[in-house]
Amino acid sequence: MNWGLIGASTIAAEHMIGAIRATGGVPAWVVSASADHATAFARRNGIARGTDNLALMLADPTVVAVYISSTNEKHRMQSLAAIAAGKHVICEKPLAMSVSDAAEMVRAAQDAGVVLATNHHLRNAGSHQAMRAVIAEGRIGKVLSLRVHHAVHLPPHLQGWRIDNPAAGGGVIPDITVHDADTVRFLTGEDPMTVVAQAGVSGMGQGVEDSVMSVWSLPSGAMVMAHESFTHRFAGSGLEVHGSEGSIFATGVMTQAPVGAVTLVTAAGRERVTFSLHDLYAQGVAAFVAAVRGEGRPAASGEDGVKSLAVALAVREAAASGRRVTVDYEGV
Ligand code: NDP
Repeated sequence: MNWGLIGASTIAAEHMIGAIRATGGVPAWVVSASADHATAFARRNGIARGTDNLALMLADPTVVAVYISSTNEKHRMQSLAAIAAGKHVICEKPLAMSVSDAAEMVRAAQDAGVVLATNHHLRNAGSHQAMRAVIAEGRIGKVLSLRVHHAVHLPPHLQGWRIDNPAAGGGVIPDITVHDADTVRFLTGEDPMTVVAQAGVSGMGQGVEDSVMSVWSLPSGAMVMAHESFTHRFAGSGLEVHGSEGSIFATGVMTQAPVGAVTLVTAAGRERVTFSLHDLYAQGVAAFVAAVRGEGRPAASGEDGVKSLAVALAVREAAASGRRVTVDYEGV
Protein backbone atom coordinates (compact mmCIF):
# COMPACT_ATOMS: atom_id res chain seq x y z
CA MET A 1 0.00 0.00 0.00
CA ASN A 2 1.41 3.38 -1.01
CA TRP A 3 1.27 6.16 1.56
CA GLY A 4 1.61 9.91 1.40
CA LEU A 5 3.07 11.57 4.47
CA ILE A 6 1.80 15.08 5.14
CA GLY A 7 4.18 16.79 7.53
CA ALA A 8 7.93 16.21 7.54
CA SER A 9 7.90 15.68 11.27
CA THR A 10 9.85 14.12 14.11
CA ILE A 11 7.11 11.58 14.90
CA ALA A 12 7.06 10.42 11.27
CA ALA A 13 10.84 9.97 11.25
CA GLU A 14 11.09 8.41 14.70
CA HIS A 15 8.08 6.07 14.67
CA MET A 16 5.56 6.14 11.85
CA ILE A 17 7.73 5.55 8.78
CA GLY A 18 9.07 2.42 10.47
CA ALA A 19 5.56 1.37 11.47
CA ILE A 20 4.26 1.81 7.92
CA ARG A 21 7.15 -0.23 6.54
CA ALA A 22 6.69 -2.89 9.23
CA THR A 23 3.17 -3.49 7.94
CA GLY A 24 4.30 -3.77 4.31
CA GLY A 25 3.42 -0.20 3.38
CA VAL A 26 5.51 2.12 1.24
CA PRO A 27 5.90 5.76 2.27
CA ALA A 28 5.95 7.07 -1.31
CA TRP A 29 5.65 10.83 -0.80
CA VAL A 30 6.30 13.42 1.87
CA VAL A 31 4.62 16.82 1.72
CA SER A 32 5.94 19.79 3.68
CA ALA A 33 5.33 23.53 3.58
CA SER A 34 8.97 23.88 2.62
CA ALA A 35 10.10 22.18 -0.59
CA ASP A 36 13.69 22.07 0.67
CA HIS A 37 12.65 20.47 3.94
CA ALA A 38 10.50 17.94 2.07
CA THR A 39 13.34 17.01 -0.26
CA ALA A 40 15.86 16.66 2.56
CA PHE A 41 13.42 14.67 4.69
CA ALA A 42 12.61 12.36 1.76
CA ARG A 43 16.30 11.73 1.10
CA ARG A 44 17.06 11.09 4.77
CA ASN A 45 14.20 8.65 5.14
CA GLY A 46 14.38 6.78 1.83
CA ILE A 47 11.13 8.24 0.49
CA ALA A 48 10.92 8.55 -3.31
CA ARG A 49 9.29 11.97 -3.56
CA GLY A 50 9.28 15.14 -1.46
CA THR A 51 7.16 18.13 -2.39
CA ASP A 52 5.48 21.27 -1.07
CA ASN A 53 2.53 20.58 -3.40
CA LEU A 54 -0.20 18.76 -1.46
CA ALA A 55 -2.50 18.56 -4.50
CA LEU A 56 0.23 16.87 -6.55
CA MET A 57 0.62 14.09 -4.00
CA LEU A 58 -3.14 13.70 -3.57
CA ALA A 59 -3.54 13.37 -7.37
CA ASP A 60 -1.36 10.23 -7.35
CA PRO A 61 -3.87 7.37 -7.78
CA THR A 62 -1.41 4.85 -6.31
CA VAL A 63 -1.57 6.61 -2.92
CA VAL A 64 -4.22 4.82 -0.89
CA ALA A 65 -3.65 6.38 2.53
CA VAL A 66 -2.12 9.47 4.07
CA TYR A 67 -0.55 10.02 7.46
CA ILE A 68 -0.86 13.59 8.72
CA SER A 69 1.69 14.77 11.29
CA SER A 70 1.98 18.47 10.59
CA THR A 71 1.49 21.03 13.34
CA ASN A 72 -2.00 20.93 14.77
CA GLU A 73 -3.56 23.89 13.01
CA LYS A 74 -2.99 22.21 9.62
CA HIS A 75 -4.66 18.88 10.45
CA ARG A 76 -8.19 19.93 9.50
CA MET A 77 -7.42 21.44 6.11
CA GLN A 78 -5.05 18.64 5.11
CA SER A 79 -7.46 15.91 6.26
CA LEU A 80 -10.37 17.43 4.38
CA ALA A 81 -8.25 17.70 1.21
CA ALA A 82 -7.11 14.09 1.52
CA ILE A 83 -10.63 12.85 2.22
CA ALA A 84 -11.95 14.80 -0.78
CA ALA A 85 -9.31 13.03 -2.89
CA GLY A 86 -10.63 9.66 -1.67
CA LYS A 87 -7.66 8.83 0.56
CA HIS A 88 -7.91 7.01 3.87
CA VAL A 89 -6.40 9.06 6.70
CA ILE A 90 -4.46 8.55 9.92
CA CYS A 91 -4.32 11.98 11.50
CA GLU A 92 -2.22 12.91 14.48
CA LYS A 93 -3.78 14.07 17.71
CA PRO A 94 -5.24 16.52 18.41
CA LEU A 95 -7.40 16.03 15.33
CA ALA A 96 -8.03 19.77 15.06
CA MET A 97 -8.02 23.05 16.95
CA SER A 98 -11.72 22.86 17.87
CA VAL A 99 -14.26 20.12 18.48
CA SER A 100 -16.50 21.36 15.66
CA ASP A 101 -13.58 21.24 13.20
CA ALA A 102 -12.77 17.69 14.29
CA ALA A 103 -16.43 16.69 13.97
CA GLU A 104 -16.45 18.12 10.44
CA MET A 105 -13.51 15.85 9.57
CA VAL A 106 -15.40 12.81 10.88
CA ARG A 107 -18.52 13.70 8.88
CA ALA A 108 -16.45 14.27 5.72
CA ALA A 109 -14.83 10.84 6.06
CA GLN A 110 -18.21 9.20 6.62
CA ASP A 111 -19.68 10.92 3.55
CA ALA A 112 -16.69 9.95 1.40
CA GLY A 113 -16.65 6.36 2.69
CA VAL A 114 -13.01 6.49 3.77
CA VAL A 115 -11.41 5.47 7.07
CA LEU A 116 -10.34 8.27 9.42
CA ALA A 117 -8.16 7.22 12.36
CA THR A 118 -6.60 9.22 15.18
CA ASN A 119 -3.04 8.34 16.17
CA HIS A 120 -3.69 7.70 19.86
CA HIS A 121 -0.84 5.22 20.19
CA LEU A 122 -1.41 4.34 23.87
CA ARG A 123 -4.41 2.16 22.96
CA ASN A 124 -1.94 -0.05 21.16
CA ALA A 125 0.29 -0.57 24.19
CA GLY A 126 0.29 -4.12 25.52
CA SER A 127 0.27 -2.63 29.04
CA HIS A 128 -2.91 -0.64 28.39
CA GLN A 129 -4.59 -3.58 26.68
CA ALA A 130 -3.78 -5.79 29.66
CA MET A 131 -5.16 -3.20 32.10
CA ARG A 132 -8.32 -2.93 30.04
CA ALA A 133 -8.75 -6.72 30.14
CA VAL A 134 -8.27 -6.80 33.93
CA ILE A 135 -10.99 -4.15 34.31
CA ALA A 136 -13.35 -5.81 31.79
CA GLU A 137 -12.98 -9.18 33.54
CA GLY A 138 -14.24 -7.54 36.73
CA ARG A 139 -11.07 -8.30 38.65
CA ILE A 140 -11.04 -4.89 40.38
CA GLY A 141 -14.82 -4.76 40.75
CA LYS A 142 -16.55 -1.45 40.21
CA VAL A 143 -14.15 1.26 39.02
CA LEU A 144 -14.06 4.07 41.59
CA SER A 145 -11.26 6.30 40.36
CA LEU A 146 -8.28 6.70 38.05
CA ARG A 147 -5.08 8.70 38.58
CA VAL A 148 -3.10 9.54 35.45
CA HIS A 149 0.49 10.66 35.96
CA HIS A 150 1.75 12.10 32.69
CA ALA A 151 4.10 14.88 33.75
CA VAL A 152 7.23 14.42 31.65
CA HIS A 153 10.18 16.48 30.44
CA LEU A 154 9.78 17.63 26.85
CA PRO A 155 13.06 16.74 25.11
CA PRO A 156 15.02 19.70 23.69
CA HIS A 157 14.39 18.74 20.04
CA LEU A 158 10.62 19.04 20.63
CA GLN A 159 10.81 22.39 22.45
CA GLY A 160 9.60 24.36 19.42
CA TRP A 161 6.01 25.26 18.54
CA ARG A 162 4.68 23.14 21.42
CA ILE A 163 5.97 25.61 24.02
CA ASP A 164 5.57 28.99 22.31
CA ASN A 165 3.04 28.88 19.50
CA PRO A 166 -0.64 28.80 20.43
CA ALA A 167 -1.62 29.31 16.76
CA ALA A 168 0.09 26.03 15.84
CA GLY A 169 -1.70 24.24 18.66
CA GLY A 170 1.00 24.49 21.31
CA GLY A 171 0.51 23.75 24.99
CA VAL A 172 0.51 20.63 27.12
CA ILE A 173 -3.28 20.30 27.04
CA PRO A 174 -3.61 19.68 23.26
CA ASP A 175 -0.37 17.72 23.37
CA ILE A 176 -0.76 15.33 26.30
CA THR A 177 -4.18 15.77 27.94
CA VAL A 178 -5.77 14.46 24.72
CA HIS A 179 -3.83 11.21 25.12
CA ASP A 180 -4.93 10.88 28.74
CA ALA A 181 -8.56 11.51 27.79
CA ASP A 182 -8.34 8.78 25.19
CA THR A 183 -6.66 6.42 27.65
CA VAL A 184 -9.40 6.89 30.24
CA ARG A 185 -12.08 6.34 27.59
CA PHE A 186 -10.24 3.23 26.33
CA LEU A 187 -9.87 1.70 29.78
CA THR A 188 -13.32 2.48 31.14
CA GLY A 189 -15.51 2.75 28.05
CA GLU A 190 -16.88 5.97 29.55
CA ASP A 191 -16.97 9.51 28.22
CA PRO A 192 -16.02 12.11 30.86
CA MET A 193 -18.93 14.41 31.66
CA THR A 194 -17.56 17.38 33.62
CA VAL A 195 -14.10 18.70 34.48
CA VAL A 196 -12.43 21.18 36.82
CA ALA A 197 -8.81 22.23 36.27
CA GLN A 198 -5.90 24.52 36.94
CA ALA A 199 -3.12 25.15 34.44
CA GLY A 200 0.07 27.14 34.58
CA VAL A 201 3.56 27.80 33.38
CA SER A 202 6.35 26.01 35.22
CA GLY A 203 9.46 26.98 33.33
CA MET A 204 8.95 26.14 29.67
CA GLY A 205 5.71 27.56 28.26
CA GLN A 206 5.72 30.97 26.58
CA GLY A 207 2.15 32.02 25.93
CA VAL A 208 0.86 28.48 26.43
CA GLU A 209 0.43 26.31 29.52
CA ASP A 210 3.15 23.74 30.21
CA SER A 211 1.48 22.09 33.21
CA VAL A 212 -2.09 21.22 34.14
CA MET A 213 -3.94 19.27 36.80
CA SER A 214 -7.58 18.36 36.37
CA VAL A 215 -10.37 16.26 37.85
CA TRP A 216 -13.02 14.67 35.67
CA SER A 217 -16.27 12.89 36.54
CA LEU A 218 -17.44 9.85 34.59
CA PRO A 219 -21.09 8.83 34.05
CA SER A 220 -20.66 5.87 36.46
CA GLY A 221 -19.66 8.25 39.23
CA ALA A 222 -15.98 7.32 39.01
CA MET A 223 -13.52 10.22 39.20
CA VAL A 224 -10.30 10.86 37.29
CA MET A 225 -7.31 12.86 38.47
CA ALA A 226 -4.96 13.83 35.62
CA HIS A 227 -1.59 15.59 35.67
CA GLU A 228 0.24 16.57 32.50
CA SER A 229 3.40 18.63 32.20
CA PHE A 230 6.40 19.35 29.96
CA THR A 231 8.74 20.26 32.82
CA HIS A 232 9.05 17.25 35.14
CA ARG A 233 12.44 15.60 34.66
CA PHE A 234 12.19 12.85 37.24
CA ALA A 235 8.47 12.26 37.87
CA GLY A 236 8.08 9.19 35.66
CA SER A 237 4.70 8.34 34.17
CA GLY A 238 2.02 6.08 35.52
CA LEU A 239 -1.58 5.15 35.81
CA GLU A 240 -3.62 3.82 38.70
CA VAL A 241 -7.11 2.39 38.47
CA HIS A 242 -8.84 1.82 41.79
CA GLY A 243 -11.87 -0.43 42.10
CA SER A 244 -14.10 -1.83 44.82
CA GLU A 245 -12.27 -5.19 44.69
CA GLY A 246 -8.76 -4.22 43.67
CA SER A 247 -6.33 -1.66 42.32
CA ILE A 248 -4.08 -1.56 39.27
CA PHE A 249 -0.73 0.22 39.58
CA ALA A 250 1.05 0.82 36.27
CA THR A 251 4.42 2.57 36.10
CA GLY A 252 6.24 3.94 33.08
CA VAL A 253 3.37 3.13 30.72
CA MET A 254 2.40 6.61 29.44
CA THR A 255 5.03 6.55 26.74
CA GLN A 256 5.84 5.63 23.16
CA ALA A 257 7.84 2.47 23.83
CA PRO A 258 6.55 -0.96 24.90
CA VAL A 259 7.87 -0.65 28.45
CA GLY A 260 6.67 -0.30 32.04
CA ALA A 261 5.17 -2.55 34.67
CA VAL A 262 1.60 -3.36 35.72
CA THR A 263 0.67 -4.71 39.15
CA LEU A 264 -2.75 -5.88 40.34
CA VAL A 265 -3.49 -5.69 44.06
CA THR A 266 -6.53 -7.50 45.49
CA ALA A 267 -7.47 -9.24 48.71
CA ALA A 268 -5.51 -12.21 47.33
CA GLY A 269 -2.28 -10.17 47.27
CA ARG A 270 -0.04 -8.54 44.67
CA GLU A 271 0.21 -9.96 41.18
CA ARG A 272 2.42 -8.87 38.28
CA VAL A 273 0.28 -8.48 35.15
CA THR A 274 2.18 -9.61 32.05
CA PHE A 275 1.66 -7.98 28.69
CA SER A 276 2.83 -8.06 25.08
CA LEU A 277 5.84 -5.90 24.19
CA HIS A 278 4.94 -5.19 20.54
CA ASP A 279 5.54 -1.84 18.81
CA LEU A 280 2.64 0.51 19.57
CA TYR A 281 2.72 2.40 16.28
CA ALA A 282 3.03 -0.69 14.09
CA GLN A 283 -0.01 -2.22 15.77
CA GLY A 284 -1.95 1.00 15.14
CA VAL A 285 -0.99 1.05 11.47
CA ALA A 286 -1.87 -2.65 11.14
CA ALA A 287 -5.37 -2.05 12.54
CA PHE A 288 -5.81 0.91 10.19
CA VAL A 289 -4.71 -1.11 7.14
CA ALA A 290 -7.16 -3.87 8.09
CA ALA A 291 -9.95 -1.28 8.43
CA VAL A 292 -9.10 0.06 4.96
CA ARG A 293 -9.57 -3.52 3.71
CA GLY A 294 -12.97 -3.60 5.43
CA GLU A 295 -11.81 -5.70 8.36
CA GLY A 296 -12.55 -4.19 11.76
CA ARG A 297 -11.97 -0.62 12.81
CA PRO A 298 -8.91 1.48 13.52
CA ALA A 299 -7.52 1.36 17.05
CA ALA A 300 -8.71 4.94 17.60
CA SER A 301 -11.29 6.26 15.17
CA GLY A 302 -12.03 9.81 14.12
CA GLU A 303 -14.84 9.82 16.68
CA ASP A 304 -12.33 8.88 19.37
CA GLY A 305 -10.21 11.83 18.27
CA VAL A 306 -13.17 14.19 18.55
CA LYS A 307 -13.91 12.95 22.05
CA SER A 308 -10.35 13.18 23.37
CA LEU A 309 -10.15 16.72 22.00
CA ALA A 310 -13.49 17.62 23.59
CA VAL A 311 -12.21 16.55 27.01
CA ALA A 312 -8.90 18.38 26.57
CA LEU A 313 -10.55 21.61 25.46
CA ALA A 314 -12.99 21.37 28.36
CA VAL A 315 -9.96 21.11 30.67
CA ARG A 316 -8.46 24.21 29.07
CA GLU A 317 -11.74 26.10 29.41
CA ALA A 318 -12.12 25.01 33.04
CA ALA A 319 -8.58 26.17 33.83
CA ALA A 320 -9.15 29.52 32.13
CA SER A 321 -12.54 30.18 33.73
CA GLY A 322 -12.00 28.60 37.12
CA ARG A 323 -15.36 26.88 36.72
CA ARG A 324 -16.60 23.33 36.31
CA VAL A 325 -17.15 22.69 32.58
CA THR A 326 -19.46 20.15 30.95
CA VAL A 327 -17.66 18.36 28.11
CA ASP A 328 -19.35 19.17 24.81
CA TYR A 329 -18.92 16.34 22.30
CA GLU A 330 -20.99 18.29 19.76
CA GLY A 331 -23.19 15.33 18.95
CA VAL A 332 -20.38 12.89 18.11
P1 NDP B 1 7.73 18.51 14.50
O1 NDP B 1 7.95 19.83 15.11
O2 NDP B 1 8.87 17.57 14.37
O3 NDP B 1 7.16 18.72 13.02
C1 NDP B 1 5.95 19.41 12.82
C2 NDP B 1 6.09 20.23 11.56
O4 NDP B 1 7.06 21.25 11.75
C3 NDP B 1 6.59 19.46 10.35
O5 NDP B 1 5.56 18.75 9.77
C4 NDP B 1 7.14 20.59 9.50
O6 NDP B 1 6.08 21.26 8.87
C5 NDP B 1 7.70 21.53 10.51
N1 NDP B 1 9.13 21.31 10.60
C6 NDP B 1 9.80 20.53 11.47
N2 NDP B 1 11.12 20.60 11.25
C7 NDP B 1 11.30 21.48 10.22
C8 NDP B 1 12.43 21.97 9.52
N3 NDP B 1 13.68 21.61 9.84
N4 NDP B 1 12.21 22.84 8.48
C9 NDP B 1 10.96 23.21 8.14
N5 NDP B 1 9.86 22.74 8.78
C10 NDP B 1 10.04 21.92 9.78
O7 NDP B 1 6.47 17.89 15.23
P2 NDP B 1 6.21 16.51 15.96
O8 NDP B 1 6.64 15.35 15.15
O9 NDP B 1 6.71 16.58 17.31
O10 NDP B 1 4.58 16.55 16.00
C11 NDP B 1 3.84 16.54 14.80
C12 NDP B 1 2.41 16.12 15.10
O11 NDP B 1 2.41 14.81 15.64
C13 NDP B 1 1.68 16.99 16.11
O12 NDP B 1 0.32 17.06 15.74
C14 NDP B 1 1.81 16.22 17.41
O13 NDP B 1 0.75 16.48 18.30
C15 NDP B 1 1.78 14.79 16.91
N6 NDP B 1 2.53 13.85 17.74
C16 NDP B 1 1.96 12.68 18.09
C17 NDP B 1 2.61 11.73 18.81
C18 NDP B 1 1.98 10.42 19.11
O14 NDP B 1 2.61 9.60 19.75
N7 NDP B 1 0.76 10.16 18.69
C19 NDP B 1 3.98 11.99 19.33
C20 NDP B 1 4.54 13.22 18.83
C21 NDP B 1 3.83 14.11 18.08
P3 NDP B 1 5.45 20.85 7.47
O15 NDP B 1 6.16 19.62 7.03
O16 NDP B 1 4.02 20.60 7.78
O17 NDP B 1 5.64 21.99 6.60
